[in-house]
Amino acid sequence: MNNIVAIVGRPNVGKSTFFNRLIQRREAIVDSVSGVTRDRNYGKSEWNGKEFSVIDTGGYIKGSDDIFEAEIRRQVELAIDEADAIIFIVDVEEGITPMDDEVAKLLRKVKKPVLLVINKVDNAMREKDAVEFYNLGLGEYYTISGMSGSGTGELLDKLVEVL
Ligand code: GDP
Ligand code: MG
Repeated sequence: MNNIVAIVGRPNVGKSTFFNRLIQRREAIVDSVSGVTRDRNYGKSEWNGKEFSVIDTGGYIKGSDDIFEAEIRRQVELAIDEADAIIFIVDVEEGITPMDDEVAKLLRKVKKPVLLVINKVDNAMREKDAVEFYNLGLGEYYTISGMSGSGTGELLDKLVEVL
């Protein structure tokens, strides 16, 4: 596979909603690492004539906060290893959570392109609330509503530029 994009972030931020909007067809990938396929969805997408594969992570994470944290960390580390670019999604409704900080800490060290995406920016009010995410230390961010699709065009323009 080439041009692999991994979508990471804590549960409920809207990773799968965005993934489903993005992909044109699902791919069944049998991974030799047990447990990897089970909790990841793969799809193919294309933007501005450039094809890429998308991995949606964290599909089946459940359990206590401790399990969450270990599992999300594992997903992020896998993504860092495998992906050519990483989309890190956070939720403007919730603001920055300790888990977001944890993920940001891992991603700040990464040399690959990391796109910080603030989801659930469904209206102009929320655009202002998004400013706090500068505190994650990842620089520029993209605001989107995965639900309506607003903002996703600019994000994808940038994504295919860095791939
Ligand atoms: P995941 O756990 O990160 O994969 O998150 P999901 O895609 O399953 O979404 C979690 C919840 O957030 C669902 O109830 C979605 O409908 C909701 N959601 C996703 N995107 C948006 C959005 O852009 N705006 C709003 N208001 N809700 C959203
Ligand atoms: Mg999901």
